[in-house]
Amino acid sequence: APIIFWFRRDLRLSDHPGFAEAARSGRPVIPVFIRDELVDGLGAAPKWRLGQGLESLAADLERRGSKLIFRSGDALQALRALVAETGADTVCWTRAYDPDSIRRDSAIKAALRGQGIEARSHSGHLLFEPWTVANRSGLPYKVFSPFWRAVRGREVAAPEAAPSRLAAPDVLPASEDLGSWALGRALRRGAEVVRTFVRPGEAVAHEKLENFIHEKLPRYPELRDRPDVDGTSGLSEYMALGEIGPRTVWHTVMRALQSGVPGAEAFLRQLAWREFSYHLMFHSPVLLTGNWKPEWDGFPWSEDSGQPHVVAWKRARTGVPIVDAGLREMYVTGRMHNRVRMLAASYLTKHLMTHWKIGMDWFADCLIDWDPAANAMGWQWVAGSGPDAAPYFRVFNPATQAERFDPDGSYRRRWVAETQAKPPKTAEAYFRAVPRRWGLSPRSEYPDPIVRLDDGRRAALAAYQAGKSRV
Ligand code: FAD
Repeated sequence: APIIFWFRRDLRLSDHPGFAEAARSGRPVIPVFIRDELVDGLGAAPKWRLGQGLESLAADLERRGSKLIFRSGDALQALRALVAETGADTVCWTRAYDPDSIRRDSAIKAALRGQGIEARSHSGHLLFEPWTVANRSGLPYKVFSPFWRAVRGREVAAPEAAPSRLAAPDVLPASEDLGSWALGRALRRGAEVVRTFVRPGEAVAHEKLENFIHEKLPRYPELRDRPDVDGTSGLSEYMALGEIGPRTVWHTVMRALQSGVPGAEAFLRQLAWREFSYHLMFHSPVLLTGNWKPEWDGFPWSEDSGQPHVVAWKRARTGVPIVDAGLREMYVTGRMHNRVRMLAASYLTKHLMTHWKIGMDWFADCLIDWDPAANAMGWQWVAGSGPDAAPYFRVFNPATQAERFDPDGSYRRRWVAETQAKPPKTAEAYFRAVPRRWGLSPRSEYPDPIVRLDDGRRAALAAYQAGKSRV
């Protein structure tokens, strides 16, 4: 009988434990992607990017004699229908760790097993399953460094190669048309602007990794904080959608480490931050929805997402060039450099005294590398409410940070057009991307700072002092 393989955020064929097992069985494999309510609930940019990844995966499967079947609706019903149509007796997938997926997947597993169908979930999204890492008291970690020490020397299984051919069933089940789903519809700035910056798919992810190892890894520790330099791997969007597996990245970088490439250790540590975010989310799903440290409940953050300061922040018109540059980069490309993510988040939660959830939601709408755990951890880390967070009173000064990490201003010039006689195409792309009703053009005046940096800092610290007994 055929095996149904349900793809979700694991859009690849190599380094794929679940898919490799299905392929090895020699039985016909029916790959399916289901547009269920969790897919419908994605933000605009990640949903569009998912569509790109699906196109690429579908083409990769076709090259191996298979075909990705698209279905929409409730996932259990869709899987049951496929089982009935194909006579499959097994359904497998790669595990997800956010509470909504866990709830859905557990219910599906129980229901399928109840009707005599084998239902199996596999590892693959992470290097270390969250329940396999615990401190000496058997509890989950809350601080990164001991987590890193605990996993640093662990054995990581070697990644499987992609199967070269796949057995297909005699009759393929019907598929919906991916194009008709219009996954890019909500991307109001027009997929055509974002598209010019994006190259989806597993093959590109591998190419990026190789290029990074050879060209950038040696200087990673020194350049990773510089938004003006292309010094990081750019792998996050591929990792978020599973277009490349973490074991592939880990082993490739480990080999570099063993041959003495200096940046390798620092890079593995960053990969472990990704693992840590999943560890936190799995063990404390509150990470996604509320202050991880409850002492922060009641902190006087504004929760009004329509207030003018928040609108200015989202539109990248705060008058603080490094913050605006980052927000524009994200709006246009779906990505933002890590250092600038921290500055934009700090500015919102401190200078503008706005709740981190408002920022997190905006990122979830705009980032093509959106990842539930990394995004929530990033925001709570900057806001001060998260585990192992930066202390709230350490307010980044965006002006001095810009001088330090974008010393000649080239990153800001790449994204902020108004101050330049001849802005580069990147800076102008923002004006092509924004909705007409915002009434902006490269000839618009660049705004004065919406708050003076000193005033914003003082107000944030005063609020912190006032609530200090609690937080
Ligand atoms: P590299 O420096 O090349 O790092 C390699 C990989 O390690 C990344 O691809 C990523 O998978 C992982 N990684 C690196 N830093 C972190 C980190 N701090 N936390 C978790 N994983 C990390 N990352 C996302 O993937 N999705 C998000 O939605 C996201 N939201 C964020 C929000 C805020 C407020 C902040 C401060 C950070 C956020 N990050 C997020 C983490 C980080 O900014 C990105 O992973 C990084 O910029 C991606 O670029 P890169 O792949 O070139 O990184």
